[in-house]
Amino acid sequence: MSTSIIQIKKSALAKNVKFVKELVGNKVKISAVIKGNAYGHGIEIAVPALEQLGINHFSVFSSEEAKRAFKSSIKKSNIMIMGYIEPGDFSWVIKNGIEFNVFDLEILKTSLKYSKRLNKKAVIHLEIETGMNRTGLTKNQLCEAVKILNENKKYFFIKGTSTHFAGAESIANHVRITQQYKVFQQRLKYLEKNSIKPKIKHVASSAGALNYPNYRLDMVRTGIMIFGYWPTKEAYIKYLSNHKLYVDPLERAVVWKSKIMSVKKVHQGEFVGYGFGFQAAEEMNVAIVPVGYTNGYSRTLSNNSHVLLHGKRAEVIGTVNMNMILINISLIDNVKIGDEVILIGKQGDHEISVSSFAEMNNGLNYELLTRLSEKIERKLID
Ligand SMILES: *Cc1c(COP(=O)(O)O)cnc(C)c1O
Repeated sequence: MSTSIIQIKKSALAKNVKFVKELVGNKVKISAVIKGNAYGHGIEIAVPALEQLGINHFSVFSSEEAKRAFKSSIKKSNIMIMGYIEPGDFSWVIKNGIEFNVFDLEILKTSLKYSKRLNKKAVIHLEIETGMNRTGLTKNQLCEAVKILNENKKYFFIKGTSTHFAGAESIANHVRITQQYKVFQQRLKYLEKNSIKPKIKHVASSAGALNYPNYRLDMVRTGIMIFGYWPTKEAYIKYLSNHKLYVDPLERAVVWKSKIMSVKKVHQGEFVGYGFGFQAAEEMNVAIVPVGYTNGYSRTLSNNSHVLLHGKRAEVIGTVNMNMILINISLIDNVKIGDEVILIGKQGDHEISVSSFAEMNNGLNYELLTRLSEKIERKLID
């Protein structure tokens, strides 16, 4: 038993998938991005749940994540590795038809070596460097890659070509993004001229799909929206105002719960927890919750966050410890050991969202979600 539990709401995933489907229309395929342990939700839970909602393409970062997704799949979905392949995993990847990004020549050459050995085509996506300067084939590398591909047609199935934008969630990056798209188009022409014909083109993440409808192409790679979050507040507000909406069409799928472990009284003037971070201004009641930074409850939330208890908000006082937080329960009556505590989610009329979390400590939804420890028990609920 873990000291807390994470519940994933199937109904919320269904709502978000429906939203993305309606956003992009039925001609555009959706790849659900499930890197970072499915943004903290758990790969093993997210994959079968999303498959039941009609998703049959998943994007992961590494071959290790691909293996987990592959094992969890109940409908033989396609899995695409966007980033790192362990050298020892190439055989497994090629044998099982796992798709992967070719973002430099090394990966192409290694893949060729294994394809020859296995006498099986590798299913690849050519990732093109268009201006982010992270991963992707530069113009010169692309020329070299084209040569290798044309000389070894037997060993490659060129399923797709892609690029990634350097921040499609903010208008501040607009010029850079549109420039990247131009470069992408130029490289496509180059490929075409050299008789390389990828089946699909994909460039948009959640933010790209929202802010650049023309860039949805054949497939979008959406992660954060599937789980019920907006890439940024800016993207959220822009969507609401463009669609004259006043309520969030997405629903957060995560609920994180724990229980009261102990309660005590603290006298006026005393300090609570480590050091001098919190001093009781008056006599107060304090409760201890067995969740701390080891579980993913960020230390930056020290003296700077709330939980829900008996349908009311209770503030976190003092520093977040490795395994515990202390909460002020002075205004909440009859708190007993074992009472449910909501760290993220709804209780009564209140909600603690990851975004409010993120706002409280100036972080990103992405970061806080992926910090949720993999060791916490996860459960799919309706
Ligand atoms: C993470 C990632 C995505 C998904 O981004 P979201 O903002 O979560 O939709 C898409 N493409 C690449 C290459 C990524 O690394």
